[in-house]
Amino acid sequence: MMKYWSEVAKRCTPYVPGEQLNDSTIIKLNTNENPYPPSPNVQSAIKKEMEQALHLYPSPTVDSLREAIAKQEGTTKESVFVGNGSDEVLAFAFMGLFSPYRTIRFPAITYSFYPVYANLFQIPYEKVPLMSDFTLDETAFFHSEGGAILPNPNAPTSIFTSLDLMENIVKHNPDNVVIIDEAYVDFAPETAVALTHKYEQLLIVKTFSKSRSLAGLRVGYAIGHPHLIEALTRIKDSFNSYTIDRLAIVGAKAAIEDTAYFKQTTRHILQTREWTREQLEERGFSVLPSATNFLFVHHPIYEAEKLYQQLKEKKVLIRYFRNQGITDYMRITIGTDEMMRKFLLVLDQVMEGE
Ligand code: PMP
Repeated sequence: MMKYWSEVAKRCTPYVPGEQLNDSTIIKLNTNENPYPPSPNVQSAIKKEMEQALHLYPSPTVDSLREAIAKQEGTTKESVFVGNGSDEVLAFAFMGLFSPYRTIRFPAITYSFYPVYANLFQIPYEKVPLMSDFTLDETAFFHSEGGAILPNPNAPTSIFTSLDLMENIVKHNPDNVVIIDEAYVDFAPETAVALTHKYEQLLIVKTFSKSRSLAGLRVGYAIGHPHLIEALTRIKDSFNSYTIDRLAIVGAKAAIEDTAYFKQTTRHILQTREWTREQLEERGFSVLPSATNFLFVHHPIYEAEKLYQQLKEKKVLIRYFRNQGITDYMRITIGTDEMMRKFLLVLDQVMEGE
C-alpha cells in the first residue's frame, strides 16, 4: 500500500514518545513531567474561558499570552512565538530556519526528535560526539555550515553548559541560526534569553510542559529576533493559523503569571532531586550532575534494561538508554517526595532480588 504514499510519508521515521499508561497506580518517572498540578489559577482561567468563549475561534496572533511571556522574559511580544508544545515550535524552526543545502550540527547524545525533523525536512546533519564525561565539545560547534541545535541543559544527560560556552558557540556562527532548546532550564542556574538581545541569529525554545506543569495542555514558545519570529509565523500560518486553542492560551497565561507558585514547586523539585541523588549514590549508582528535573544514572553491576523491566513489573516506570553511544543508563524523573520514597523502596527490593 506504500505505493499511495508521498515521498514525505515514505522518508518519515517518527519519534516514539515514552510510555503513557492510563493507570493511576503507576509511579510514573519516565517522561519528565512535573509531579505537581499547575497553579490553581490555571483551572479557574480555563473554567471561565469554557463558560464564555468556546464557540469562538482563538486569536491567531495569541497576543495576550505572547505579552505575558515577553513580560516574564524581559523582551517584547514581537520577539515571542507560541506553538503547540515546544516540539511543534522546534518543527517550525527546523523548517523555517535550517536549509536542505547546508549541514547542521547537534550533539551525538541528545533529544531524539532532532534527527526526526532533520530527516522529515531533508536537512543534512552531523552528530557531534560529546566528551567522555558527557560534557559539550564547544569548539566542535564553531563555524557549522548550516547552524546548530543544542539543548541546555542537555537531555537525557541532564548536564548544563555554562552561558559563556554557549555564547562562544553563537559568536562563532555569525551567519547561521543557533537554536538553544531550554526545555529544562528552570531547573538550571540560568537562561540564555538575555543573549537574544545581542545575537540576532540566536533562537531560544522553551516549554510549559516541565516547570509550569502543563504537559497536558501542549504549549511551547520561542524567543529571538523579530526576523526569526516572522519566519516561524509564516510557516505556522501555512499550516494552521489558530495553532493553540483558547484553553491553552488562558491556561498558559495564568501559569506564567503565577511566579510565586512556580518558584515554590521548582524549589521543592530541586530539593527532592538532591535527596534522591544522595540516596542513589548510597546504593552504588553514579549520578551525572543534574541541572534538570531528572537524573541520569549508571550502576556498575545492575543492568539498566533489567532494572527498568523489574521496576515496571512492580509498577514503577522509568526510562533506560542503550543507544546513541550510551552504554547503560537509566533516566529517572523527579516526582513528589512520596513517589521517590516508593521508587527507592521498590528499587531496593529489585536490587535484593525480591
Ligand atoms: N526538548 C526537549 C529537550 C525535551 O526533552 C522535550 C520533552 N520531551 C521537548 C523539547 C518537548 O516538550 P514539549 O513538546 O512538551 O514542549
